[in-house]
Amino acid sequence: MRYLSANYIFPLHINPIKEGVIEITEKGEIVSIFKSRTKAPTGKIEIFDGVLCPSFVNAHCHLELSHLKDLLPKKTGLPDFISKVPEKRNVEMSDIKKAMKEADTLMQKNGIIAVGDISNTNHSFVIKEESEIAYHTFVEILSLDKDKAEVVFNKGLELLKNCPKPNSIVPHATYSVSPKLFSLLKEENNGKIVSIHNQETKSEDELFTNQSGDLYEFLKKFGWENQSGISALQTSLLQMSKKSQIILVHNTFTSHQDVKWTKENNYSIYWCTCPKANLCIENSLPDYSIFDPEKLCIGTDSLASNSTLSILEELKVLKENTDFDLNTLLKIACKNGAEALGFKDLGTFETGKTPGVNLIKNFHEVKRIL
Ligand SMILES: [Zn+2]
Repeated sequence: MRYLSANYIFPLHINPIKEGVIEITEKGEIVSIFKSRTKAPTGKIEIFDGVLCPSFVNAHCHLELSHLKDLLPKKTGLPDFISKVPEKRNVEMSDIKKAMKEADTLMQKNGIIAVGDISNTNHSFVIKEESEIAYHTFVEILSLDKDKAEVVFNKGLELLKNCPKPNSIVPHATYSVSPKLFSLLKEENNGKIVSIHNQETKSEDELFTNQSGDLYEFLKKFGWENQSGISALQTSLLQMSKKSQIILVHNTFTSHQDVKWTKENNYSIYWCTCPKANLCIENSLPDYSIFDPEKLCIGTDSLASNSTLSILEELKVLKENTDFDLNTLLKIACKNGAEALGFKDLGTFETGKTPGVNLIKNFHEVKRIL
């Protein structure tokens, strides 16, 4: 048995405790929490300088894009960014595997215990299977051609068969999936945890409401014709199952009205923000005041749009741009992400869980200590 203490512990299911103690087995299962060091066996307490919290949950990543680090344009907007991804994906498999392995190791080093990871291919499956990180894989599909919907969907299901669990098959984004493909996914996903890229660029709403803007100019070449007259968020959610838990990723240009609409229409939503990627691609951040902080989680996105895979670095941006206190920030980094991805044993220091233990010093560096 180990007894871990620090200046503060952040159990996250209860309020932070000054000089509290975590009683934890060698294997990392939480036995109990002591509100004071005097309650723990004398001489057995390990005292750390800093704060202790559960290990981080990275709610959105693309491990298989790790080799694209520093290869894509910065701050030029989403349409330009996505148009450059396919050509850059054409790389030797050995280089792709090496970059993914390094990214997985980097996340472990940065105190990340679980990841919601997007796969468009099977490239990352073996690494995820062998990793100490718990991955939920979202097999992501896209196609605007309604005649190809069945073929694309079946290919996705085939990929899902060989994919490490837990997993689910999901749409890439509202603008890249035909209504026919959305309907096939809805049937398959009833009640499952899904994710979708949402309102990452301002032109996403312009596309659906007015059939205009940068994204429209890019997509019309591919025969885009899905104008709905309503926001991108409402367009996608109306084509998804209300029984699913839906992780909306980015939400950089989501409006207060859209957030209200999801509540009025009883959708089960987690809002996943990827602040550093948003700054890298669009040079914008969401208006964080419109989201319920209990339903906010955080992701790094991929190394294609980020210089590192560190939840603490993402939190630093959030801290600078919100009034969130440390307890709220850590909930976003641990508890909420674990709930969003359905990892019931992670995210808080509740008895019986095995959430990992991170030590954070001065909100500057993080180390996994168990
Ligand atoms: Zn993404």
